[in-house]
Amino acid sequence: MSKEISKLEPTTLWSIFEQICKIPHPSKKESQIIDFVMNFAEKHGLKAKKDEVGNVLIQKPATPGMENKQTVVLQGHLDMVPQKNNETRHDFDKDPIEAYVDGEWVKAKGTTLGADNGIGVAASMAILVDDSLKHGPVECLFTVDEESGMTGAFAIKPGFVNGDILLNLDSEDEGELYIGCAGGIDTNAFFGYKEEKLPNGYKSFKLKVKGLKGGHSGLDINLGRGNAIKILNRLLWTGIKHYQLKINSIEGGSLRNAIPREAEAIIALPAENEKKFSEKVNEINEDIKNELQTIDDNVNISIAAHDNISTIIDEHTAHNLVKSVYGCPNGAIRMVPGMESVVETSTNLAVVKSENGKIEIATLQRSSVNSAKEDLCNMVRAVFELAGAEVGHTGEYPGWKPNINSAILKTMKKVYNKKFGKTPEVKVIHAGLECGLLGNVYPNLDMISFGPTIRNPHSPDEMVNIDSVKRFWKYLVETLENIPEK
Ligand SMILES: [Zn+2]
Repeated sequence: MSKEISKLEPTTLWSIFEQICKIPHPSKKESQIIDFVMNFAEKHGLKAKKDEVGNVLIQKPATPGMENKQTVVLQGHLDMVPQKNNETRHDFDKDPIEAYVDGEWVKAKGTTLGADNGIGVAASMAILVDDSLKHGPVECLFTVDEESGMTGAFAIKPGFVNGDILLNLDSEDEGELYIGCAGGIDTNAFFGYKEEKLPNGYKSFKLKVKGLKGGHSGLDINLGRGNAIKILNRLLWTGIKHYQLKINSIEGGSLRNAIPREAEAIIALPAENEKKFSEKVNEINEDIKNELQTIDDNVNISIAAHDNISTIIDEHTAHNLVKSVYGCPNGAIRMVPGMESVVETSTNLAVVKSENGKIEIATLQRSSVNSAKEDLCNMVRAVFELAGAEVGHTGEYPGWKPNINSAILKTMKKVYNKKFGKTPEVKVIHAGLECGLLGNVYPNLDMISFGPTIRNPHSPDEMVNIDSVKRFWKYLVETLENIPEK
């Protein structure tokens, strides 16, 4: 079975990828694959170095006659996301990935394949050993730990790479060129609350929002999908304004980089308001279904009797919480000028959770323009501070602002056109790429991100399209031949 993979073309790339599959390399456990690439350099007489976090740089001199070309950095990440199906027995620390050919695709048996970014790494290594190619000076930069925090790219120091142009090989749609990415920052709000005694004559209920699609808080933020926390909050607002609703607890969302699909609150209502509020809930459910028509209309809001509660979040805090969640911006805020279908700046109200006298709210702002990200993060901060919350920030990383006049973009468009008879799509991704961090340290690097077609990355259904790898390789080789002179 694995023999088939090494027979695929280009054979050098695929046989290196096959070797990579045999080496365990989940994020934060890259030592074996670092050794593999370092030994590879030594075996082929190439200069290599490693920094203190494990990022590797391997240099290959220009081929004869190409010495005047600008230096190109080929960049990919060494780690992969370790995901497996429930029924699959696999130890990512020890077991090889079982890659196999299935029609037009290469897949893995029950686990992530690691084509993200193993194909990019294999392509770079194939460039290093293929003596039939024509290219200027090449440096291969292999970073660690992209998938769980980009700590490798974060640690890159000035002077580690020397190139003029950087080709990031970590994109997932062949025929697309990425020229920008979003940076991000977390904004976290905290309310302290007192537990108060529930007044007499109240009944307890669980109010729940579910059935939403959710999705990635960057890539899917422009789809207009429902945010379960925002929807739940509309119900709480109405309940407080008109039905004397009290809140015992609230919980919604799970991951900061996911649009929240579900949210629920344990509430109490005066017994006489039960029926009227239930009717109102149904009415709002219909309104929201209508608003989310064709986008997210499986939304389901329910109210059901709950075990009696005895305490509630103090009224002052509960009201401030609901008002601030209402006022908090959410979704796409601005599109990239000149690329109106691409989100420039967005925010996701991701998680809310009350527990032991404390309410935590987690949000994530993204933008390809660093100042716009800061502006939006202040906006979110201001709303929660107005409501008396404490606000802090974590996890900031820079974006990569698109440069439509980039010289390497012009070259790569021309090469693609000549080779495949069509124009590649030029895009900006509304999520983080290592290019944002690298561009921050090397502001003069002219960067592009591209790659073969990979579907369902980060899941056991990950697969890479075989033909697209062939085209990606030819495109990479021809791009290197056509790099501008110094
Ligand atoms: Zn990747």
